[in-house]
Amino acid sequence: MKDEGQHPLPPVRIGQGLDAHRFGSGRPLVLGGVRIEHDQGLAAHSDGDVVIHALCDALLGAAALGDIGRWFPDHEDQYAGIDSRILLRRVMDALSERGSGVSNADLTIVAQCPKLAPYIAAMTEVLAADLRCPVERINVKATTTERMGFTGRGEGIAACAVVLLTGS
Ligand code: MG
Repeated sequence: MKDEGQHPLPPVRIGQGLDAHRFGSGRPLVLGGVRIEHDQGLAAHSDGDVVIHALCDALLGAAALGDIGRWFPDHEDQYAGIDSRILLRRVMDALSERGSGVSNADLTIVAQCPKLAPYIAAMTEVLAADLRCPVERINVKATTTERMGFTGRGEGIAACAVVLLTGS
């Protein structure tokens, strides 16, 4: 029987991320880097882009680099109202420096409203650009919870992300 230690694992790493924000009036709704027509945005220290936050956590998780709160503390003024795409690009910079890239990403947005189908293609393009990979490797989908729970009552939006990194 061969020694398993002589056969290093392939350089792929998986990560998952989850985030949720409650609705708050007086601000735009931005999901996956795309402005969504709605009467409420998401309350947050940043722009409240729950999709990108879940994605950042998945990327950081795959690289064993902690989480978005550690990288971009929500008590620091420099992140007040920040475009979450900037945070995503910084995470990608860190991964690139380590020799890692995104093989694929799969994201699910949980929202009772608004309807997100018209925005999925635009989100996919934006995220593929920031993840520096072809759009064919990025999947964005949306679901409701059949009016159950906090998303079902329209109190907020949640998102989860799974990513596979290749490289080191
Ligand atoms: Mg968040």
